[in-house]
Amino acid sequence: MPNWVAPAAHDTSDRRSQATCDSQHLQCPSWWRSESSGGTEVGVRLRASVRLGCVVAVAGLALVACVCGLGCHSNSDHPTNTALAQPGPIFVPRQHNGNYPIRVVCTTGMVADLVRHTGDGHVQVHALMGPGVDPHLYKARPNDVRLLQEADLVFYNGLHLEGKMAELLQSLRHQGKLTFAVTTALTAEDLLPDGGEFDPHVWFNVRLWHKCLELVRDVLMQYDPGHRDDYQRLAEEYGSQLLRLDEWVRQQVQSIPPAQRVLVTAHDAFRYFGQAYGLEVHGIQGISTESEASLSEIDTLAEMLARRKIKAIFVESSVNPRNVQALIEACRRRGHAVRLGGELFSDALGELHQEVPEQDNPGTYVGMIRHNVRTIVEALR
Ligand SMILES: [Zn+2]
Repeated sequence: MPNWVAPAAHDTSDRRSQATCDSQHLQCPSWWRSESSGGTEVGVRLRASVRLGCVVAVAGLALVACVCGLGCHSNSDHPTNTALAQPGPIFVPRQHNGNYPIRVVCTTGMVADLVRHTGDGHVQVHALMGPGVDPHLYKARPNDVRLLQEADLVFYNGLHLEGKMAELLQSLRHQGKLTFAVTTALTAEDLLPDGGEFDPHVWFNVRLWHKCLELVRDVLMQYDPGHRDDYQRLAEEYGSQLLRLDEWVRQQVQSIPPAQRVLVTAHDAFRYFGQAYGLEVHGIQGISTESEASLSEIDTLAEMLARRKIKAIFVESSVNPRNVQALIEACRRRGHAVRLGGELFSDALGELHQEVPEQDNPGTYVGMIRHNVRTIVEALR
């Protein structure tokens, strides 16, 4: 059974870049040094693992108080309903104190992007993990801990993505910090199993990410009810953009010849992408970046690529490209010239370019998805 709260410890030294605290979109703001909420507030402890199914809601109930105790881990707690069409049933046990902007700390740039869009004008968002940072391996630094403790709200991906931050997030919750895993918006039916856990890379199915947006909206609306109309409107606007993006991705992938719809990347980050948009996906490493691809696995993949005459494979911005190069070599030994199709953003956004429109800006979620899709389609078409 998956543990929804405490990410498994992924232990590895295989990585391109050890984490660096990179304020990806915003500089470390001055308010981080101002008065601290200190994590001392007393309130109902909200598990970030709050699941839709924790409380069975009477149909039509707009808001369901869903406070899980420590036992809310199991899949049986997972709901069977499929979407959060209306606010709730996330429960935020206290409201904002009125000092703006609301200070939000997020783990990944993708999560920060959701909060930034939804809370625009009322929140100041800080992403702990910048471009090229591998969230499976990221360890919070002392400065991160301070930022988290001073934050009004903390959002993270969950599903064990932030494997090395599990204890810290749990400790923050025990201090009464309001922490939310955006993937608690998803149901077991949405998720792809991986052993006894679930694959955390949900952002590559844009429709699933749209559901995570709804959770962020619901949290902000409850936490700061004075601006609930703004959060509702902003989430609707950004949600429409995401649904258009989803359709665009679908159309783009269909322009690849069916026999070439095979995506081989450095690690297994693209299973949701493959499932949603119709590509067969192979990661040279497993779901996490912890595992070393064995030589025999690389050989098996090389055989498949040569037999099916797949034109290109891809490296990832946050994963060591060594195994991808080994695979290209293995193909060459078999007489198949597979080429490097380019670099995909997998577990981190790219650099944010201030003057570049969102849809072409790899430092935004939309820009990241579009970059990946363009790269994949150009290489495989
Ligand atoms: Zn990953």
